[in-house]
Amino acid sequence: MQEALAASERKFRTLAENLPNHLARYTIDGRTVYLNPKLETLLGYRTDEVAGRTPTQIFPDGRYAEYESRILETARTGNDSQIELSIVVEDGTQLAHHIDCVAERDDTGAVVSVLVIGHDITQRRRAEVDLRMAASVFQAAGEAIVITDPTGVVLKANPAFTQITDYDFADIDGHNLFELDNAAYAGIQAALEQDGSWLGEISCSRKSGESFIQRLSIAAVNDENADVIQYVCIFSDISQAKRHEAQLEYIAHHDVLTGLANRMLLTARLDEAAEKAHRAGRLLGVLFIDIDGFKSVNDRLGHQVGDQALVQMAQRMIASLRDTDTVARIGGDEFVILLPDLSDVAGCEMSASRLLKAIAEPIDVEGYRFALSASIGIALYPEHGDDADSLLRRADEAMYAAKRNGRSQYVFCSDDSRNGLHLDSSRVYRLRLALEQNQIEVHYQPIVDLATGRVVKAEALARWRDPERGLVLPSEFIPLAEDSGIIHAIGDRVFSLALDVAEAWNKLCPDGGKRRISVNRSPREFLDPDGVDNWIAQLDERGGCIGHMLSVEITENLLLDDRPKVLCQLAKLRSAGMTIAIDDFGTGFSSLAYLKKFAIDDLKIDRSFIVDITDDPSDRTIVESVIVMARHLGLCLIAEGVETEAQASLLTSAGCDYAQGYLYARPMPAKEFLDFVVAAETGALGVVA
Ligand code: C2E
Ligand code: CA
Ligand code: CA
Repeated sequence: MQEALAASERKFRTLAENLPNHLARYTIDGRTVYLNPKLETLLGYRTDEVAGRTPTQIFPDGRYAEYESRILETARTGNDSQIELSIVVEDGTQLAHHIDCVAERDDTGAVVSVLVIGHDITQRRRAEVDLRMAASVFQAAGEAIVITDPTGVVLKANPAFTQITDYDFADIDGHNLFELDNAAYAGIQAALEQDGSWLGEISCSRKSGESFIQRLSIAAVNDENADVIQYVCIFSDISQAKRHEAQLEYIAHHDVLTGLANRMLLTARLDEAAEKAHRAGRLLGVLFIDIDGFKSVNDRLGHQVGDQALVQMAQRMIASLRDTDTVARIGGDEFVILLPDLSDVAGCEMSASRLLKAIAEPIDVEGYRFALSASIGIALYPEHGDDADSLLRRADEAMYAAKRNGRSQYVFCSDDSRNGLHLDSSRVYRLRLALEQNQIEVHYQPIVDLATGRVVKAEALARWRDPERGLVLPSEFIPLAEDSGIIHAIGDRVFSLALDVAEAWNKLCPDGGKRRISVNRSPREFLDPDGVDNWIAQLDERGGCIGHMLSVEITENLLLDDRPKVLCQLAKLRSAGMTIAIDDFGTGFSSLAYLKKFAIDDLKIDRSFIVDITDDPSDRTIVESVIVMARHLGLCLIAEGVETEAQASLLTSAGCDYAQGYLYARPMPAKEFLDFVVAAETGALGVVA
């Protein structure tokens, strides 16, 4: 019997010592009888060190109190019990143990000891936590997660999948994911087979058919033999982000106020266009546009009005160009236009003229009405540069040349279009305002027929009736008007007022006499992109042959510039019945022989020759020879600045036809002039009668 017991005890030890589990035996009052080696290692005590002591005696900090009470409970009730214990070991790691307490009985069935078996379930617990975590991620993820078998058949899909695609799990359960949207997934499967994963953006459709962009990543899950057992597909709807990205992209390349391309986009397009022009052997026009005097709009009417004006400018520019042209805003009032695919310079000039015209239309903003003009500098590829930088720089230089030339015009880039000069924009603004508020008026200076003493002609001379400064003479504002381009509008105004007076004069003295009012037209005005069309249109509006009552005074130097543009304008004026007079003759570079080439009617000998005509024999000789040659050429002569009777009689005897000067009258307002001519007429007739 003893032997049998000892044998069974040995068997137990052998088993206990080789068991991978922890094993211990306690007396029914909880005192340690035996710890197997594994448990000894875990606790850090050998059996002989702790035999006869209860767990709480061994560990007085109470960490095994629960453990001990289970042992005692099993001993008392005889029922097996389990407990899960979390044990913190020496190095601080936390281990999870499942512990079974089993009552050991003697032959009578009385509990004699308690056997405790512990399993380390740390791994299992961790795996469970991982799984729980994975499950909750799967459920709660914002990304759609679909798990498929190696062929793509859907095994699982999370709620986000439904949210994004509108497909319920039931819709796709057992279906092949890749076949849901063949087009979208094309090629992906092949890549998966090769690489085991795929990452990218695809466009696919929701259940409703609406398409969206997904960022998709697919990874293969392999078993220990490296065979694919599943695919995990994770994707999110990035349509919104894409839209946002596109918006950012748009903002980075466009001007917020006008929606036009900004400098960045312009430069890119310019390089691209130059490249294309090179390949096609065509021209590319680069127009640098600066709105004249724009600062004063901002200063006087506020930025809001200024901004609105810029928006209107932008719209007009777009409207006056081809779809293939690019309009960019690169600074406050600076625009750049690309005209690709030009066959010749004329096409470029046409666009520039159209732009000038479109910009000059009156602008209505918030109850204000005003007109602006622009200066345009033009550089051409390949003539003036072959990259964005140099083309823009050259066009910019040409723009400054346009400003210096009098604004409101376009200028092609050339080598002398460098060094800039700025105009006083507040003076320009005042002048523009003066024009709008009808402060520009015209005075008329009679021109007398020396043979009869009758007033048969008059010169229209511009005046600015400034409410602050009084009457301002042309020397003060004509140069500014020319520099700023306002001269075109002033010329039109003077012309129209002169027409009124010509008509009135004709009505007052309806005797069929040949009367003419001459109007000055400065060289700048011949640069008007519209040429003389405005003047001709005004004549047409009045009907009849009012053109025969007008003359246009030009300077002789204008004729040195024998561009077809100038000659064509002169021809148009003449065919409308007007005569052409050379103003200030003798001060320029031309000779009478040279003038013969042109269709000129009158010569006005400059005042500087008349002043000393009675005292200076050489001046007298010059004037006399001019008179002889002019007669020979069939030109009519008018002496300017005649102030004395002596001058008048000398000119009369030399054969001069007409005289103008303070001797007869100073320039005077329209009404005074008309009274003057009526009085002179009756006086002169009286003499005859
Ligand atoms: P201009 O064409 O040579 O005009 C004649 C100028 O001589 C006028 O000066 C006139 O007042 C002045 N004058 C006339 N008789 C005498 C005289 O006996 N003695 C003196 N000392 N001066 C006399 P004004 O009106 O100051 O005009 C100056 C210039 O302004 C004009 O010279 C003309 O070139 C320009 N101008 C005037 N009105 C216009 C216009 O409507 N358009 C353009 N483009 N230029 C204009
Ligand atoms: Ca004149
Ligand atoms: Ca003159």
